[in-house]
Amino acid sequence: MSRVNYNRRKFLRIGAAGAAGAIVLKGSAAAVSDMQDNNIATRILGRTNIKIPVISFGVMRADSPALCRAAWENGIRLFDTANVYQNGNNESMLGNLFKDLPRDSFMIETKVKPSGVGQNGLPTSQTTTDDFLTKFKTSLSRLKLDYVDFLLVHDVSTPEMLNHKPLIAALSRLKKEKKTRFVGFSTHNNMAGVIRAASESGFWDVILTSYNFRLPNISEMNEAVEKAASAGIGIIAMKTLAGGAFLDKEKTKPVNTTAAIKWALSNPNIHTTIPGMTTFDHLTSNLAILKDPVLNENEKKDLITMAAEPGMYCIGCNQCLETCRLRLPVPDLMRAYMYAYGYSNGRMAYDLLGSLGTGAAPCVNCNSCTVKCTNNFNVKEKISDVSRLVNMPSEFIA
Ligand code: SF4
Ligand code: SF4
Repeated sequence: MSRVNYNRRKFLRIGAAGAAGAIVLKGSAAAVSDMQDNNIATRILGRTNIKIPVISFGVMRADSPALCRAAWENGIRLFDTANVYQNGNNESMLGNLFKDLPRDSFMIETKVKPSGVGQNGLPTSQTTTDDFLTKFKTSLSRLKLDYVDFLLVHDVSTPEMLNHKPLIAALSRLKKEKKTRFVGFSTHNNMAGVIRAASESGFWDVILTSYNFRLPNISEMNEAVEKAASAGIGIIAMKTLAGGAFLDKEKTKPVNTTAAIKWALSNPNIHTTIPGMTTFDHLTSNLAILKDPVLNENEKKDLITMAAEPGMYCIGCNQCLETCRLRLPVPDLMRAYMYAYGYSNGRMAYDLLGSLGTGAAPCVNCNSCTVKCTNNFNVKEKISDVSRLVNMPSEFIA
């Protein structure tokens, strides 16, 4: 799709004209019934009973308060951040923006990553109540809020994490003290498994899950999501673009981002999505989805074309874990690659590589790669491309 660089002034002019224009819906009756309040498509977020626009704001990479404010002015209500994003500056930006706005006019979702979780996704003795509470206290102070709307455990990949008593104790206490209205978790790996487990527990109000047209186990995912939604859990989709705005490192093959987001919304059990936005151009295209959330024929064709390319999104199937001769954390390295080349965010890639400790050339002594990626990634090449970042001085990484 074409990309135009809008500045804020131009954005507001176009936004106002769009709001006055007639809305023509194509598609199913179910989608039409989404349309409420000023022709903004909304859904009910599970047992929270919140009527939420189908587009929310993934703030992770955004650093423009003006962009976030413009989203709020144009009807976006939920802003998703995390304790670790931009070393806390992401939460601070939102705190400074929203401190003077009516508290019932926006919702904040933040995520706290518990300490001591191993690469196998299991909690350890370091995964404690106090650790979680301390991190959340910092988040609340950066956000300049008395409470958040949604507090999520960041990056859950095993049912054991969902049942870890110290975490349940922390979340229960914060809910009782009204420091959070609702509790949930985010999941990027083994999503169907943890979503099924959450559906049976009765504890979780919302789930933030990877969900996109590239997932290989989409039938299993849809069943899990349906089970969770039927149990009253609000479902929020992330990673809907499946790896960023381009399919290739050279940026010659753009993703039809509108088609990708609308595809996620074609499942009525997905209650809202949190596409990442860093420009007014991104915001403009996503606001258009609020007015017309149904896939058209051209978008369906683009989805088929995009799905035929491997893209830059590691689907998190973990099939490669045991196949690397050196037992490298290949899915994490592929995630670093996606950050660097899909999201154009060298800082996130650099920080992730640093935490992995795999160095600047992890494959250098390995002559033939034994990893068979189910997504047909040339794993050795991608690891080599992204690992070079480690040698860059930190101050040069944007
Ligand atoms: S080339 Fe790299 S990824 Fe492939 S098997 Fe060797 S160490 Fe593992
Ligand atoms: S096999 Fe490929 S897609 Fe699956 S986790 Fe490994 S790198 Fe990712």
